[in-house]
Amino acid sequence: MSEARRIVLLGPPGGGKGTQAKRLETKHGWCQLSTGDILRKAIADGTPLGQRVKAILDAGKLVSDDEIMGVIGERLEQPDCAANGFILDGVPRTLGQAEALERLLAEKGTPLDAVVEVRVPDEMLMERITGRFFCAACKANYHDSFHRPKVEGVCDHCGSTEFIRRSDDSPETVKDRLASYHEQTEPLLPFYEERGLLKLVDGTRSMDEVTAEMERVLGV
Ligand SMILES: [Zn+2]
Repeated sequence: MSEARRIVLLGPPGGGKGTQAKRLETKHGWCQLSTGDILRKAIADGTPLGQRVKAILDAGKLVSDDEIMGVIGERLEQPDCAANGFILDGVPRTLGQAEALERLLAEKGTPLDAVVEVRVPDEMLMERITGRFFCAACKANYHDSFHRPKVEGVCDHCGSTEFIRRSDDSPETVKDRLASYHEQTEPLLPFYEERGLLKLVDGTRSMDEVTAEMERVLGV
């Protein structure tokens, strides 16, 4: 267990920040919190905000910045996060959410310690994401460039010859997701830079190297 830290992780889809956040949680005890996980937990626990969010999602509507921040605020007060600190992964996503988060943490007297941007160029993300596929039978993961089956067209693990690509991983979808990241999330970089919180990590290197670099910039 390390000293409690309050960290925001920023980075493009497919840039590996979810994996890094999980590693840091395991090594240092900081709560890893992603919006999806937090909303699912609030709904499962049936908190008042959770019930409201469930009604919004059931109606097929989008959850507002204020509601997302409300649910995050509830989660941060639970003992594990309050004692050990947290890593927010994938949130804030917009300037509005960043401002709401800043107000929320200021009210609690627990401001952020650092914001880490995991930077990966678009071309590399495109190759990483669009190359992914998996076995239809045993779900083993493969990649066009980095991890092909030993025998072309046959799963190494179960011998199946059927493979699936997620529609989310198609070049068009990835292009849209990256465009929305650049448009919505990049304005957060100067916002945090001005506050002296922003640290940059090169996300093109191996998982282990990226983890080590994150620990270096966080001083742990
Ligand atoms: Zn298989």
